[in-house]
Amino acid sequence: MSEQTIEPLVVLGLGANLGNPLETLAGVLKEIGKLPQTELVAVSPFYKTAPVDSSGPDYVNAVCTVKTALAPQELLDELQWLENLHGRVRPAGVRNAPRTLDLDVLLWGSQTICTSRLVVPHPRMHERAFVLRPLTDILPECVIPGKGRAADWLEGTLGQRISKIST
Ligand code: ATP
Ligand code: CA
Ligand code: CA
Repeated sequence: MSEQTIEPLVVLGLGANLGNPLETLAGVLKEIGKLPQTELVAVSPFYKTAPVDSSGPDYVNAVCTVKTALAPQELLDELQWLENLHGRVRPAGVRNAPRTLDLDVLLWGSQTICTSRLVVPHPRMHERAFVLRPLTDILPECVIPGKGRAADWLEGTLGQRISKIST
């Protein structure tokens, strides 16, 4: 019998608040779907959100799910390459600077990953409405390993301004 690998569902977070965020997110979703050994499975609605842990203009945020045969570090390399392609600059010494594109690995199935370059589940995702709202739109029963239901965490983010801009 041949071996079969079942790929986990990987959840990515997308955000942008410089340039043309709507155009950037629409474009990068197509590019994510064309990454090697990677299939785009689902895309959330887009949201306009106030910066959280960041500054500058409002963000556009979304999440998507992919299936990939890439290793986690390989997918991170591809995502950082896409960030650079869309003009991401990282000003020295400025944390959470405004950006043309931010791509985060939020979840890797139910796995936890902890390396110097990649921590999954994303350590701050459960505090952020701009992650939890789109995430629960496409995965209402989603459980964040070690944290519990995303929908329960979303209830604690009511003070964060977020509005849907597309279905
Ligand atoms: P935050 O992590 O709070 O959302 P950020 O997205 O602004 O902040 P970046 O400057 O984009 O942070 O990334 C800094 C580093 O975080 C990256 O170079 C990457 O190696 C590391 N990193 C660790 N875990 C992850 C993850 N789950 N997804 C993406 N990058 C990660
Ligand atoms: Ca981020
Ligand atoms: Ca990031």
